[in-house]
Amino acid sequence: MTSKNKGVLFVISAPSGAGKSTLIKVLMQNVPDLIFSVSHTTRAPRAGESHGRDYFFVDKHEFEDMIETGRLAEWAKVHDNYYGTSRAFIEENLSSGAGIILDIDVQGKELIEKVFPECVTIFIMPPSIDVLRQRLSARGTETPESIAKRMGNAEIEISKTDSYKHIVINDDLDVASEEIINIVSGYMIRSSLA
Ligand code: ADP
Ligand code: 5GP
Repeated sequence: MTSKNKGVLFVISAPSGAGKSTLIKVLMQNVPDLIFSVSHTTRAPRAGESHGRDYFFVDKHEFEDMIETGRLAEWAKVHDNYYGTSRAFIEENLSSGAGIILDIDVQGKELIEKVFPECVTIFIMPPSIDVLRQRLSARGTETPESIAKRMGNAEIEISKTDSYKHIVINDDLDVASEEIINIVSGYMIRSSLA
């Protein structure tokens, strides 16, 4: 990121249901030396999610303690729950030359950019609002109320994407996968040569 460390911080955002988790999985399987930053959240785990792999699931009291003691590089309230990124995790891993993947919302991206201005920001765009709604309901993880809230937030998030360095449209999964792999690999190769 700076002349003192060789790692690259990738910030990936998308409206819920656009395919961010799917594309991050593709990246982790195809690009060497990437580390996923596991966030802390007060949201309940979904079926199949595990503590320490998908999120660190904590209660509100523990989350507020992390805020007060400065242990979060950024945090935000998203869809009625708190989400935050460990400051120590980023600082420790950036110096190792790794690529760190942050899966955070647009508010978190704005905060992280202030601390790490050289971060690489990528927004994953659904091909349309209708497709987004279909994917969110087909995933089967959200109640109708949660889907409505996520769709409302999606329009706000999409209106704030001007400042992202890269936008990947996730229509055909193979095309989007190739595009995001090329973007991330390019920065990783450049950083290894710097
Ligand atoms: P997010 O992490 O952004 O909330 P997911 O990765 O969970 O989104 O994707 C939402 C749903 O859409 C999942 O069921 C996933 O399998 C599906 N999906 C992701 N990308 C595509 C795509 N390009 N075409 C069709 N379905 C997709
Ligand atoms: P989900 O509940 O679907 O896993 O995530 C909801 C939203 O929270 C997504 O937009 C995701 O990117 C965002 N998010 C996850 N972790 C963090 C984090 O640590 N900080 C911020 N600001 N947003 C996060």
